[in-house]
Amino acid sequence: MNDTELALSDVHWLMGLLQTIEVGIVVLDNDNRVHTWNGFMENHSGIDAGDARGQPLFELFDDFPEEWLKRKLDTVRLLGTRAFSVWEQRPYLFRFRNRRPVTGTEPYMFQNVTFFPLTDRHGEVDAVCLLIYDVTDMASNRRQLERTNAQLKQLSQTDGLTGLFNRSTWEAFLHTEFERHRRYGSEAALVMLDIDFFKPVNDTYGHQAGDEVIRQISSLIKFNLRQPDIAGRYGGEEFAVILPETDIVGAECFAERIRAVVEQQPVQCLEKALDITVSLGVAPINDQCPNADGWLKAADDALYAAKGGGRNQVVVAPC
Ligand code: GH3
Ligand code: MG
Ligand code: MG
Repeated sequence: MNDTELALSDVHWLMGLLQTIEVGIVVLDNDNRVHTWNGFMENHSGIDAGDARGQPLFELFDDFPEEWLKRKLDTVRLLGTRAFSVWEQRPYLFRFRNRRPVTGTEPYMFQNVTFFPLTDRHGEVDAVCLLIYDVTDMASNRRQLERTNAQLKQLSQTDGLTGLFNRSTWEAFLHTEFERHRRYGSEAALVMLDIDFFKPVNDTYGHQAGDEVIRQISSLIKFNLRQPDIAGRYGGEEFAVILPETDIVGAECFAERIRAVVEQQPVQCLEKALDITVSLGVAPINDQCPNADGWLKAADDALYAAKGGGRNQVVVAPC
């Protein structure tokens, strides 16, 4: 073979390589018309290279981020530098169905795209090349990991039986709320709630019935919360609620509503209707509370007084 034949055979190989490589290759001229459209693009778009060639790219797909892409291409031409699009910011540029067996749950192919200028012999940019990488496996794994981490975080913060915050998470909120008060003087109140004569429920109907009572009382609490209120399961049959931006009148009203609703609504369990009552202690945040623990103790003392006063009642801590 002479030199010309060798060079031609090299070009032939190169063309074969570009055609089969598992990366999308698109070359656009300066009017954003398609010049090159390789096998990857043909396979995933269903558009033959012959049909794509010469067509304005934006007319090949009707769901293109046209403005964004035009700006990107203009920048590449103007600065003569590379640009990128990553799946975290834009999941895909070309909407191709995901056909990978392993990550079959993702409907579309995630893509990273590199844009780079192609220059003529005089160094003038006369085309832009787009390389489209299929990163579906990596993106899908990362998203699954993020979902799992979010679930783990939620599980580590909540109580399994009631779905309320667990004690340590709730206490962290308590400290945050106390700090808010110390810095900004914001109002808040605390309600501690304990189920009355709960031990006999367990002893008479069994532990599962006791669990059901705890679950149903927690549902009643949840139902009566406003969006900023923070409820937690403080102990076995003891609950605590932080009421931000709430004065003592509002807090007592909230506590009384819970008390009344529990008294009026028997808990349905084991085909029986169990009459349950709760005692509640309410403590406003004020300057006598030295810290979050002192605030909590004030609510706990009020709850203790409610038990001592005969149960099924609300006691407000002295201000
Ligand atoms: P009081 O009116 O003074 O509050 O009396 P009480 O019987 O409700 O209170 P006591 O503290 O004597 O009993 C609480 C019981 O709650 C004891 C414990 O076995 C039970 N308990 C704690 N956690 C759970 C739980 O998750 N499920 C069930 N079923 N019982 C629990
Ligand atoms: Mg109790
Ligand atoms: Mg108790």
